[in-house]
Amino acid sequence: TAAAPLSSLSPAELETFLETQRTAYADLQAHGLKLDLTRGKPSVEQLDLSNELLELPKGHKDSGGVDVRNYGGLSGLTELREMFANLLWVETEQVIAGGNSSLTMMHDCLVQLFLHGGPDSPRPWSKEETVKFICPVPGYDRHFTMLGNYGIEMIPVPMNEDGPDIAAVRELVTDPAVKGIWIVPTYANPSGAVCSQEVATELASMETAAPDFRIFWDNAYAFHHLTEDEAKSVDIITLASGSGHPNRPLMFASTSKITFAGAGVAFLAASKANVDWYLANQQFASIGPDKVNQLRHVQFFGSADGVREHMRKHRDILAPKFAAVDAALESALAGREVATWSKPSGGYFVNLDVLDGTASRVVELAKGAGIALTPAGASFPHGNDPRDRNIRLAPSFPVLAEVETAMAGVATCVLLAAAEKLSGAQG
Ligand code: PMP
Repeated sequence: TAAAPLSSLSPAELETFLETQRTAYADLQAHGLKLDLTRGKPSVEQLDLSNELLELPKGHKDSGGVDVRNYGGLSGLTELREMFANLLWVETEQVIAGGNSSLTMMHDCLVQLFLHGGPDSPRPWSKEETVKFICPVPGYDRHFTMLGNYGIEMIPVPMNEDGPDIAAVRELVTDPAVKGIWIVPTYANPSGAVCSQEVATELASMETAAPDFRIFWDNAYAFHHLTEDEAKSVDIITLASGSGHPNRPLMFASTSKITFAGAGVAFLAASKANVDWYLANQQFASIGPDKVNQLRHVQFFGSADGVREHMRKHRDILAPKFAAVDAALESALAGREVATWSKPSGGYFVNLDVLDGTASRVVELAKGAGIALTPAGASFPHGNDPRDRNIRLAPSFPVLAEVETAMAGVATCVLLAAAEKLSGAQG
């Protein structure tokens, strides 16, 4: 039988419950754990899937005879661009294969928009009185800190199961100071949401007061399925060009969570005008990317299907960890009505919403028991979750047994924080 909602307990029952949780928490502390669920890093086992890269490339020329050891080729190796054009549903000429970090490419785009403007900007963004960005929440903390670093005003909108709240977005873009929006379209960080065709169509076609409005379409988890029901990313570039806004989307992806997180290849895909714009600026920053790394990725994958095949091996490692998160939360919290959590079918995160006003306390309690969680509020601009309820869980890095132990501990912390709050004994 399901446990009773915590809010339905009598004061005496709640007092007993609180004592039980305090005891459970003391037990947890006594275990002296040292576990970390803070960041979406691939595990050692996942990294090992790509160890063959350490023996590649074989030879030093690509199929067109380019000597990859030398300078040059700012847009990246053609074969790798072709492979990822296929995977991202774009044309090869619309793809740049860059360095090891897509975050760097996002940052480069943002900075160049600031300093020079884009192909359809009336003036550089830095010449505007204010620049505002729409930030679906919960979202990726590094997106928000990047904007914060340049003083860009962040306007949160709810991230729904099918993408950002499109009614809210439509209203905000009537302000010409609103220049862009972040979207993680596939298996969003941290909610796991997948942007629907309908929402993407609206984003691509809506009228915006700013002629140079940009969708930063960060498809970091495009191929990172956890089930056999593999979501297909919406083709935002075709949608946007079809509705007369070809330069609106800037799409980003990388192999950071496909091969080596620190030594993968990042991609920018966009209209030809945007690609030319990016390269025109990039020519002053680089004489060419690491083509040796690009060639070894070509040889390692072999083809677009090789990438898909490789991702299934990741899935086999990751899916049991996500199942363990769900099982631990379900077994401790079902019926208590003190938390809800996502059951993502891809990506790297579980989004846990606890009782309003208790997320910081849960993170603090977990820390006290040796379980490191991402700081409460991290998934919001300026780290400010107005309801103090959101916690991002990242189960990829620890081994399965550690995920199980850590999550049982987190569930104890959730129950203790809720009992404290409801009994007025917080702190
Ligand atoms: N975007 C999102 C949504 C991410 O979650 C991450 C990694 N946590 C990145 C980008 C970073 O990508 P890269 O390693 O290519 O810089």
